[in-house]
Amino acid sequence: MKKDDCIFCRIANGEIPSNTVYEDEYFRAILDLSPAAKGHTLILPKDHFDDLFDADEAVLERLLKTAQKIGAGMKKYLNCDGINVVQNNGAAAGQTVRHLHVHLIPRYEGDGQMVTWKQNASDPEEQKKIAAGIADAV
Ligand code: 5GP
Ligand code: ZN
Repeated sequence: MKKDDCIFCRIANGEIPSNTVYEDEYFRAILDLSPAAKGHTLILPKDHFDDLFDADEAVLERLLKTAQKIGAGMKKYLNCDGINVVQNNGAAAGQTVRHLHVHLIPRYEGDGQMVTWKQNASDPEEQKKIAAGIADAV
């Protein structure tokens, strides 16, 4: 299902032109408007899902395979040293467009880009408790 006021729905379905690098029945992959590096690509499902946790199982099953296919093409063309696969869910996690998407960010040795987080110390007892809590909730 599409959402009329969603920009990524409109781009994914071809209503707004984009620099498309891949398209099939389920997805359109486009170049990011404000790329972290040349070739930074976004994979957009053609159906609207707010984020990963809202998504159809069938779409999710295809999403990572599609990332693999496009990423292989990017490595071939861009000759990058690595690729970050990034996927943000919720504003607190950095999601700015509320339509499920996956970032493929080409990386080069010493490029100085950051896809990272600050590491904290962990307490073994607390870790046990958290692991058990999540395991119960899954
Ligand atoms: P998020 O922060 O939600 O994970 O990522 C959204 C991404 O979409 C950002 O990297 C941003 O640059 C990109 N973006 C936002 N609006 C547009 C647009 O209209 N066209 C394209 N190609 N990229 C967009
Ligand atoms: Zn949408």
